[in-house]
Amino acid sequence: MAVKSESSPKSITIVVPILNEEAALPLYFDTMADEISKIKERSKVDLSFTLLFVNDGSMDASEFIIRNAKKEHYDVQLVNFSRNFGKEKALYAGMTYAQGDAVIPMDVDLQDAPEVIEKLIDRWLDGVQIVNAKRVSRTEDIWWKRVTANLFYKVFNLFSEKPIPENVGDFRLLDRQVVDAFNQIGDQKRFNKEIFSWVGFQTEEVEFDRPQRSKGEGKWSFWKLWNFALDGIFSASTLPLRFWSYIGFLISLVAFVYVLFVIIYTLVIGRDLPGYSSTIVMILGFGGLNLLSLGILGEYIGRIYTEVRNRPSFIVSSTFGMDDNE
Ligand code: UDP
Ligand code: MG
Repeated sequence: MAVKSESSPKSITIVVPILNEEAALPLYFDTMADEISKIKERSKVDLSFTLLFVNDGSMDASEFIIRNAKKEHYDVQLVNFSRNFGKEKALYAGMTYAQGDAVIPMDVDLQDAPEVIEKLIDRWLDGVQIVNAKRVSRTEDIWWKRVTANLFYKVFNLFSEKPIPENVGDFRLLDRQVVDAFNQIGDQKRFNKEIFSWVGFQTEEVEFDRPQRSKGEGKWSFWKLWNFALDGIFSASTLPLRFWSYIGFLISLVAFVYVLFVIIYTLVIGRDLPGYSSTIVMILGFGGLNLLSLGILGEYIGRIYTEVRNRPSFIVSSTFGMDDNE
């Protein structure tokens, strides 16, 4: 091992949410063992690594594989959920359990390229508190995912009070101070990416090419992504509500002008009856607008309901490798 400088040792927790990943896990362990030993070898600072897996209700051999992972260069910890709560919750749980001086959330399918970790750590050792891994190309995604992802970032940042960086997933490095701030935020409907940028702190980006999934299958259907995007937008901002105030104001104005016109027309020219089509167009048009605005109101009321119920975000059934149950 290289001679380390006198600076104090630093611990890094890598948080890995998993759902039925028995196919991808063995390769993940092998790759990470190599990568971590390389990083430790080269680093001037004495680094220690923990792989903290959050098992998001896997029904396959994932838990077995993790418990039996051989560990020369890293520790292994495991948090088991009582059922599938979704990746956002799994990530949140990982952040609350992580003990490291820095935390790196990472996918198990090696799409969050392990060789980027060293670059993230280098920037962090230089004093940067959030180092985002930004994908430079999305060629690994099929076209509709690329188009919708782009559209999502545009729309999201139009509405959000704090813009999120484009093409940055959950893969990034967070300093302990950032993690503590993140954990203070008790939103039920969590949109982690938005919270990461909302908390502030000095942020930098490192670029990388996102490869294909190593093994196993992607777990996001179009419908899941759509709901995820809507949740993100509605949780980041109340601007859609304000939007309806403006529309309402505009329509009232037009209606007022039209009423004046009708009064004057009746007084000057007299009454006439035709107008079935304009009436029906207005009834249908305003009916639609009413329903749409009710729907948007409903989105927020639903959110208030979820927040007020204040249920725990996830239920942990067991843990493994934590200090207290070693
Ligand atoms: N994942 C999870 N819970 C879920 C869905 C996914 O913990 O409900 C994990 C999954 O095991 C993987 C990571 O989240 O480690 C990213 O999933 P995936 O590769 O399917 O997403 P994509 O790369 O398409 O964004
Ligand atoms: Mg993936």
